[in-house]
Amino acid sequence: MARRRTPPERPEPSKLCKSHAEAAAIVDRQITEGDCIAASLQPGPLPPEAPLWHDRNLTILERLFTERAEAERYRTCALYGSRIAFRNTPRGEDDTSLHTKRLEWLRSLRGRLDVYDSVVAPAPSQAVPAAHQQHAGEAYDVAQFCLNGHLINDSARSTPAYSRAYCAACGARTVTACVECEHAIPGAERLPPEFATEGCARPAFCSFCGKPYPWTARSLEAARELAAELEGLTDEDRTALAGTLDDLLAETPRTQVAATRFKRLLSKAGKGAAESLRSIMVDVMSEAAKKTIFGGP
Ligand SMILES: [Zn+2]
Ligand SMILES: [Zn+2]
Repeated sequence: MARRRTPPERPEPSKLCKSHAEAAAIVDRQITEGDCIAASLQPGPLPPEAPLWHDRNLTILERLFTERAEAERYRTCALYGSRIAFRNTPRGEDDTSLHTKRLEWLRSLRGRLDVYDSVVAPAPSQAVPAAHQQHAGEAYDVAQFCLNGHLINDSARSTPAYSRAYCAACGARTVTACVECEHAIPGAERLPPEFATEGCARPAFCSFCGKPYPWTARSLEAARELAAELEGLTDEDRTALAGTLDDLLAETPRTQVAATRFKRLLSKAGKGAAESLRSIMVDVMSEAAKKTIFGGP
């Protein structure tokens, strides 16, 4: 009598941490680079750029998939390659087949990328590829902020898995592009992994159209409303105070005048409200304005 066999336990299949398109672009880039190196290979030991390229492939594969299995397969394909190479030729005489093997493996991966599921759901917040693609090859990734200016993801293009449709801190919608001109918001500097830094500065204005980003506009609006209601000020004072706000945002020839006036008028106002206004503005003020208003070294 036939026994029903329980299927063997299979490990979770690897999934792509990026969208298929992005994964393909990343692998393509590595293949192109590998081809370049291959074109200049001479029989003998590998040139220094080959092992660097190989290390980068490993790092990329580790980050590209949810499981380490693919990176491990890549690494061992290279190991088998070296054994074959060592068996057929005296050790160290010709390592070019190592490079060729690794390149072949990447090509085969590229051919079967579609087989893998991606953890990146094509959410509407990530469907801004136009803004992303315009800047392909640029020095900066794309940043995702919420409308109130909380940083969500400093590398929305290279690690979209960290992107969110809404901010966990305040619930506001998130953006990766200027709402006025739709240019991508510059994010983390694109550096080799060993130099990579976390986070990115929050810009006050779009450097493509000059308009304030939503968080800047929101802070300004809140500050203007508050300035209009401050007690202890004359109407003239209130207008003058509101007039200083724009010049506090960026360092301009008017910043010093504005900051001095802001400080003087605030000292006339009731303490609580003045404190609120100061705390709204401190998030968006330029360093020069802060120095004048709060003092400093
Ligand atoms: Zn937020
Ligand atoms: Zn813009």
